[in-house]
Amino acid sequence: MEKTLFPPGGSPAGAAAPIPFFSQAATFDELWKEIRAGCVDVLDRGKFSHGAKVAELERRLALWTGATHVVGVNSGTDALVLLLRAAGLRPGDEVVVPAYSFIATASSVVLAGGVPVFADIEERGHGIDPASVDSVAGERTRMVMPAHLFDRLADLRGVCEVARRRGLTVLEDSAEAIGMRLDGTHAGLVGAGGVLSFFPSKTLGAIGDAGALLTDDDDIAETARALRHHGRAGRTLDHFPGIANPTVLSGCNSKMDDLQAAVLLAKLAGLDAGIARRSELATRYDARLREVPGVLAVPGAVPPHPGGNRVCYVYLVEVESRDALAAHLAARGIGTEIYYPVPLHLQPCFSHLGHARGDFPRAEAACARALALPLYPDLSDADADRVCDEVAGFYRGRPG
Ligand SMILES: *Cc1c(COP(=O)(O)O)cnc(C)c1O
Repeated sequence: MEKTLFPPGGSPAGAAAPIPFFSQAATFDELWKEIRAGCVDVLDRGKFSHGAKVAELERRLALWTGATHVVGVNSGTDALVLLLRAAGLRPGDEVVVPAYSFIATASSVVLAGGVPVFADIEERGHGIDPASVDSVAGERTRMVMPAHLFDRLADLRGVCEVARRRGLTVLEDSAEAIGMRLDGTHAGLVGAGGVLSFFPSKTLGAIGDAGALLTDDDDIAETARALRHHGRAGRTLDHFPGIANPTVLSGCNSKMDDLQAAVLLAKLAGLDAGIARRSELATRYDARLREVPGVLAVPGAVPPHPGGNRVCYVYLVEVESRDALAAHLAARGIGTEIYYPVPLHLQPCFSHLGHARGDFPRAEAACARALALPLYPDLSDADADRVCDEVAGFYRGRPG
């Protein structure tokens, strides 16, 4: 079988090759034998959903993260919904979430029947601010769910302290946080549970959607396993011997696909090396960009919270004239992304919560200034340097 997943691109002679925001073509070339063998094995067995590959991936991820339970599902978003439900969210319960994150951090709360309550982020860094959590939590607040964004954990110690004082359950949106640890404990396992996303551009990416729930709590894992499979016990649980698939809960269909699991198993072997390469590139960007006028903040200038490590999923700078810089880079073939363009409290889908511009100024400022640059193991040093040169060139050439 010839490899045709990623046909070669090619650029006009003389022109610098485009630098996409994300690519895993070289990784696929390198791992092609393992990926192909895993996929052929799935095809030969003919079990495409919750088969041997999903079970093996769950086992391997449990070893890699140290989680007691890993529950494979079809996306990081569904993992969040199942986590909230399995952790006991009741209709109308409030969950404090950051005003600056991917939409699913808050929409998962709505999908699970709860009400998101927004808190602002820290002065430096992009995690939820424990003091803001304390000030927005009220009578009906049952949970708090920080998101670990880009290259570090949120202030989990601070959040856990507020949660303990106020009797809140801590769940973690650790969708971006594979490899991030607090005092050696993997993201998602500091609170009652967390998730992983295997969306293709994530640090461990599939070739489509996939995700997982992580927890050390037996009851959360058991409920999540039933919920991902139409609420059925039986074959997904050992607790009802002799009963074939009884429906014990109103669940959903969030099963993981074995082809995705086969790809992820092949890529898992290179995860540590991929994280190390990301870290090298982030350090390179930090060194070259920190002195560029117009670049307001490089992530490396802000140390992680005590006990936390740095694992760079997204390299995000805050800059002046963000949209003009993005257009300048696009015109030179360099892909960028805006994480996140609109603060969650101003998203139309949450307008019923009654927020206005100005409610969470730090989240709003981050949305206006943040730009993510290309960062993935396939990126060469020369390409990273060219990105830095073009960023510096933009600010040098600015009028005024
Ligand atoms: C990617 C991501 C999700 C959702 O994961 P999907 O697998 O895309 O559903 C949730 N939260 C955060 C912070 C993410 O980055």
